[in-house]
Amino acid sequence: MIDGLAPLNKLISDALHDFREFEATLAAAIAMSQDTCPHMQVIHCDLHDMEYFSALEPLRMCTCCRVEEEGTYLADRRNWRVPGLVKPTLGNEPHRLVVEARREDLYALRLPGDRHLVKPKESAQC
Ligand SMILES: [Zn+2]
Repeated sequence: MIDGLAPLNKLISDALHDFREFEATLAAAIAMSQDTCPHMQVIHCDLHDMEYFSALEPLRMCTCCRVEEEGTYLADRRNWRVPGLVKPTLGNEPHRLVVEARREDLYALRLPGDRHLVKPKESAQC
């Protein structure tokens, strides 16, 4: 800390405090919802070819809790796979409706920050 600086404006300081409390509340709500959601409806975006021999991996997102999962280049709507031989969270299940979507539409549904990403579970190995 630099000595002699004037304190942050109280109005900003109070709003920043409220904002941090709101962020913590939001993070807890998202984590709890994503842990308990059955992910009944999922939107799917296929591999997206890019220039210079590269591509964006396929993506899936639950429309209810907004948890998101990335597939491998081998994944498509019929054969959903995720890297590392880990059982997919948003894979094809009899109760799950998988709907095709444009990548831009999936991006528009993302939650703020990186809270949408699936955290691989150690016990979920294939
Ligand atoms: Zn869900």
